[in-house]
Amino acid sequence: MTTAGDSRFTLTINGKSVLAVDSIDVVNPATGEVFAHAPDASAAQLDEAVAAARAAQLCWRDTSMADRQGALRRLGGCILDHMDGLTRLLTSEHGKPLRDAEDELRRSAHWLTSYAEFELPETVLLDCSQRQITTRHVPIGVVGAIAPWNFPILLAIWKVAPALLAGNAVVLKPSPFTPLTTLELGRLFAPLLPPGLLNVVAGRDQIGPWMTGHPGIDKIAFTGSTPTGKRIMAGAADTLKRLTLELGGNDAAIVFPDVDIEKVAKALFWAGFANTAQICIAMKRLYIHHDIYAELSQAIVAYAKTVKVGNGADGETQIGPLQNRMQYDRIKRLVDEARESGLDFLCGGTEWPQPGYFAPITIVDNPPDTAPVVTEEAFGPILPLLRFRDADDVIRRANDTIYGLGASVWTNDRQLAHSVARRLECGTVWINESRFLSPFNAFGGHKQSGFGVENGVEGLLEYTNTQTIVARAPGSD
Ligand code: NAD
Repeated sequence: MTTAGDSRFTLTINGKSVLAVDSIDVVNPATGEVFAHAPDASAAQLDEAVAAARAAQLCWRDTSMADRQGALRRLGGCILDHMDGLTRLLTSEHGKPLRDAEDELRRSAHWLTSYAEFELPETVLLDCSQRQITTRHVPIGVVGAIAPWNFPILLAIWKVAPALLAGNAVVLKPSPFTPLTTLELGRLFAPLLPPGLLNVVAGRDQIGPWMTGHPGIDKIAFTGSTPTGKRIMAGAADTLKRLTLELGGNDAAIVFPDVDIEKVAKALFWAGFANTAQICIAMKRLYIHHDIYAELSQAIVAYAKTVKVGNGADGETQIGPLQNRMQYDRIKRLVDEARESGLDFLCGGTEWPQPGYFAPITIVDNPPDTAPVVTEEAFGPILPLLRFRDADDVIRRANDTIYGLGASVWTNDRQLAHSVARRLECGTVWINESRFLSPFNAFGGHKQSGFGVENGVEGLLEYTNTQTIVARAPGSD
């Protein structure tokens, strides 16, 4: 197992561990200090990875589904076999608490083994004496998978598992902020797959645009911010790549007055602040009915004060630092601007413990709908609480955003919950919970939260081209 202090993390190209001439620093966000180095792949190394993937895919596309399912199971088992080392490595480079790092890795293994149960559907649409028409799904070729830093492993596996199962080869690129665990997985996975089938190429941000424009890559599967998604779409136009874009969100939660306040306060806190609020589907705007606004906001603040923020490597920690300096500066700006514009804080907003990228848990009391803390995707621990009185009005306010990723509705009135859910403009609506995801239900954004879906059979089909075979019976008139 390569450990954090070891600077010889390697790329995986054509089944081999490969060094690069240059390297990038990897920072532990709990200390703000460089603790390891990752290889910075060159354009030539990306070319090698793509060439290896193309060669491997020519054989892989002809393998049986059983063989591909077996490969996914092996990869899932491999993660479980190396859980301790991978967990510590992920916490060191990401900052998330050990229990969250372990949860991410366990879920990654679960996704792999669950995807191993999927089949590609083949449908006979017409079968008569003259003609048979069949629709089937064939691999696209080489998939470029580009992952963000907030869930570096899970969101990579969401791409790798369906891509391989559908018969594609993959070039996987982690974020420069969190390359190590992905590089390590590339090394561990290599003996379990044919050479070249899964290549891991890390480095600076320039690798993304190289992949997007690369003529040897047929599809980009991307999770990241909406501005980067737009650049990828532009970069992919020339080669008309297939795209799945999972982008940003500004999810609203709407809480009606009939809820159990103590219970819901805790659930809402974690809906907003888990993973230091660095989740695309974190609750980022909390609309509370006027009748319970004071009581519920106090209960959330009281719970927030019990939560332990600290170094993720400390077993007691529930919330770690922000993942990187850029994100820290961005959240500090949002918080400072909110204070300078006269907004009231129910908690947080002032103390920024050093060293590391720690941000205070900050809750803002009923800011105007036009305040940046409401309109922008913060992606950090600052949450606006907003009052509402009327269901139609709050639905309009919740939908008044360029984003459309997720939302949640909290009430004991089942009919009300469903009628509100159906009017929200987003890919997933949770009722009386948040952020539940599984390998079996499709997940994706509306509006500028992206297009295409991940997970479920629909997610698997995103890694295929549809082929229709129209067969006229020999000798028929
Ligand atoms: P980001 O867009 O900065 O980077 C994501 C990845 O894209 C990184 O690997 C980066 O190196 C690469 N990249 C950067 N510029 C590129 C370019 N021009 N071409 C190709 N690739 C490029 O995003 P991030 O800061 O890593 O992640 C946070 C964002 O991701 C948030 O907006 C969050 O909401 C979003 N996100 C969305 C989902 C979802 O499923 N919808 C999930 C997690 C995160």
